[in-house]
Amino acid sequence: MSFGEALLTGLAVDGGLYCPAEVPPLPALDGRTSYADIAGAIMWPFVEGSIERDVFESMVAEAYASFRDPAVCPIVELGDNHYLLDLAKGPTLAFKDVALQLVGRLLDHELEKQGRRVTVLGATSGDTGSAAIEALQGRDNVSVVILHPKGRVSEVQRRQMTTVDAANVRNVAIDGSFDDCQDLVKAAFNDTALREEFGLAAVNSINWARVMAQIVYYVTSARAVAPVVDGASQPVSFTVPTGNFGNVLAGWYAKRMGLAVDQLVVASNQNDILPRFFETGRLTARPVAPSLSPSMDIQVSSNFERLLWEASGRDGKAIDQLLTAFRADGDVDVPWVDGLRAEFDTGRLDDDGILAEIKLVHAQLGLLIDPHTAVGTYVARQARRDNSVPMITLGTADPAKFPDAVEKATGVRPALPPFLSELMSRPEYLVDAPNDLGAVASEMRALG
Ligand SMILES: *Cc1c(COP(=O)(O)O)cnc(C)c1O
Repeated sequence: MSFGEALLTGLAVDGGLYCPAEVPPLPALDGRTSYADIAGAIMWPFVEGSIERDVFESMVAEAYASFRDPAVCPIVELGDNHYLLDLAKGPTLAFKDVALQLVGRLLDHELEKQGRRVTVLGATSGDTGSAAIEALQGRDNVSVVILHPKGRVSEVQRRQMTTVDAANVRNVAIDGSFDDCQDLVKAAFNDTALREEFGLAAVNSINWARVMAQIVYYVTSARAVAPVVDGASQPVSFTVPTGNFGNVLAGWYAKRMGLAVDQLVVASNQNDILPRFFETGRLTARPVAPSLSPSMDIQVSSNFERLLWEASGRDGKAIDQLLTAFRADGDVDVPWVDGLRAEFDTGRLDDDGILAEIKLVHAQLGLLIDPHTAVGTYVARQARRDNSVPMITLGTADPAKFPDAVEKATGVRPALPPFLSELMSRPEYLVDAPNDLGAVASEMRALG
């Protein structure tokens, strides 16, 4: 399948995920210094054959021109060889923009080329929805239906989705959890009739193009902080606040492409299926407990399937059996855990810890961080083995997206950037629906 087809399809008809058949080595980056130039070079081997190079590079440039920092993803020093990679400079203040600003453009281009129209159906735990809506609103060939768990996203997150007044956008508040929303999306994709009726496409983190776009900032940040010895870049480590495993998986691909990585640390909140998995070798689902870091309130990390598939030696049958058993019982032994333990470290932080960490970072550095990023900075300190190796923690949201938690921890209420100052007073457009596929289909039909 071409990149363009995988981009449009998102989820395979049999329920599986698309992965690159070959993982290319990192290209030479001589002379490329801007984020967009480096991004174009790193992603080119994945998209080659689906798009012309100059068209691709200009879409990349356009996507990253929408960021509020010339570095696109700037780095902040935290001290003690620990760095924060700020991924929240895009239009919706979370790291999802880094991929979606590009993926929205790629999708529109591919649809135009094929003379097709699609409905993008997505589930969001808060940040994907607004980033997708922001990237796709008003585009000719795309309708967007976003499901979010009613009452379980922050007010700023909700308003970033629901205050967009565009004829091709519909927000649906589902009576259920994020996992319920994600299951509804999966069920819709597995329903051949629905798929055909709407030409369904997905831009949630199961879409390979998003993982691809996220590989870039692992490379740019490593280049910025890695010590160079005898002309060779030394390894760096990364800690990634994790929910659906899309972000940290991109780090794993960067390593596969040849980036010198020491530790890759998966940081979870109290919904800690991944740390428990690495401890026990069993994937055991538990009910989702809403936390201060809602974008990580996930029990089934959908991108983890891609890693398991690679760990199994690309044995699709074995993965299908494993995940079928997991969906049925919520509990399964994973035979390849030892190999994975060698590649990942993990840690977790609950809500009290999150508040303490936001407070600590503010007291020490005068820096406000959001609750997701706080999970990262804390776990990074706990998990790092060697302080002479630079540790880069990925900052996944702007603190202004979660003002209540930040104010509770520090007494300081972070202000929204000026371009979002009217967010809290604009009218909202959304509908409620039960946790039911038929109801979701009706909402898609209503959009036309
Ligand atoms: C989506 C999100 C995460 C989790 O990222 P995954 O790729 O799903 O693991 C963490 N923090 C924030 C702020 C997010 O929006």
